[in-house]
Amino acid sequence: MPTTVGQLVSLLEDRYPPALAEDWDAVGLVCGDPNASVSRVLFAVDPVRDVVDEALVEQADLIVTHHPLLLRGVHSVAPVNHKGSVLHTLISHGIALYAAHTNADHATPGVADALADVLGVQDTSPLVPIPDEPRCGTGRVGRLDEVLTLGSFAERVAERLPATHHGVRVAGDPDRLVETVAVCGGSGDAFLGAAADLADVYVTSDLRHHRAQDHLVDGGCALVDVAHWASEWPWLPVAASALQQDLERLGSTVDIHVSTVVTDPWTLHRGSPS
Ligand SMILES: [Zn+2]
Repeated sequence: MPTTVGQLVSLLEDRYPPALAEDWDAVGLVCGDPNASVSRVLFAVDPVRDVVDEALVEQADLIVTHHPLLLRGVHSVAPVNHKGSVLHTLISHGIALYAAHTNADHATPGVADALADVLGVQDTSPLVPIPDEPRCGTGRVGRLDEVLTLGSFAERVAERLPATHHGVRVAGDPDRLVETVAVCGGSGDAFLGAAADLADVYVTSDLRHHRAQDHLVDGGCALVDVAHWASEWPWLPVAASALQQDLERLGSTVDIHVSTVVTDPWTLHRGSPS
């Protein structure tokens, strides 16, 4: 029996229940017939043209992305802009698109666990637990597998996350020791307060000037700012492997690929002359 889009969505939603998503989010099947059969799945962070092109080359029938394609109100999907064009290409080639966003952020294991694992952060718990589901929530906080200086830890982050032009930015004394680490994949500056209370260092992305500055002058923990895409990419191979296991248990054979296309928007970085 061929595996269908609907069966794959059901397996994904067992691991990343839509009920865990934020109210403002738009998770789930974006396009694709639930009854269509799937022989190849592509996991990616962003539903952008480069990923759709990769799916066409890979002959994927389903793309699972972390970010939703359509998050805000949409009045047209005519192929006159990027999102409309992406949707037209997907539908005309019979490729389904499914998004697991804040439900994958909040789930255990989820996006934040994958980031913590790759950085060697152990014994984690949610940085901001969901009140009724204390094992789930935003970000993770735990203990580093060895005490490191902030400078050495930043080197580790740079080595273990996928390469981007953004690289790694650090706020704090590079010689201070860090052991308790908070992480949050994606935009994490809303959770600076929780990280300040619990961690020696906070790894996240999209930290804004004023929020970071206020956090630091108030004595908050050290900060490691990474590329948004790089902070969420480690979830892809974990989610792909989990789906593979679920399919094997059902006796289904589906090829699962993880995108290696860097979809971080920044394409050049120059440090200022010293
Ligand atoms: Zn994100």
